[in-house]
Amino acid sequence: MTLHELLAHRRVRGLSVGQCVDGSPLPTGVYAHAHQYPKDSNRGWVCIRSPRDILRRGSREISTTVMHEFAHLLAAAGHDDDWRRTMRELGQPIPAAYRKRNRPSKLSTQRVSKRRR
Ligand SMILES: [Zn+2]
Ligand SMILES: [Zn+2]
Repeated sequence: MTLHELLAHRRVRGLSVGQCVDGSPLPTGVYAHAHQYPKDSNRGWVCIRSPRDILRRGSREISTTVMHEFAHLLAAAGHDDDWRRTMRELGQPIPAAYRKRNRPSKLSTQRVSKRRR
């Protein structure tokens, strides 16, 4: 999805870069967020800290960060089943931290032992 397509989407009002659309700075550690709830007067906005994070590197496609926030707008939800389903519909992988069972990955410590014959 290109930035043009994102901004043309009926659920997207705009992309605020560098600060929240309400004028406040993004909290420390937050690189982007979405205003997905109906009660929010800024509903439909995605706010992102850095312009470098809008597009995939070397691509016209929007980044996984923006797709993540776009899924919040479409689902009008936090990190719940509706959001996960929307992510899948968008063809986005769901980061481990947002999977339903948030178990720490064992991949880094697991050793695959050779089976002896
Ligand atoms: Zn915001
Ligand atoms: Zn999120």
